[in-house]
Amino acid sequence: MAYVISDDCIACGTCISECPVEAISEGDKYSIDPDTCVDCGTCAGVCPTEAIHPA
Ligand code: SF4
Repeated sequence: MAYVISDDCIACGTCISECPVEAISEGDKYSIDPDTCVDCGTCAGVCPTEAIHPA
């Protein structure tokens, strides 16, 4: 299990500094490395567009 970022991502950068394991990468749309993500849900809670969900 890992969280995933949907097309609703606006690349605002809010989540990236919140991830405790630095699993989130920047881009046109941000992405989460499923092998690094520990499924904590922190990023989903801070996303202003609610773009992050459990896979
Ligand atoms: Fe990082 Fe937690 Fe989001 Fe996974 S669920 S990407 S570990 S903040």
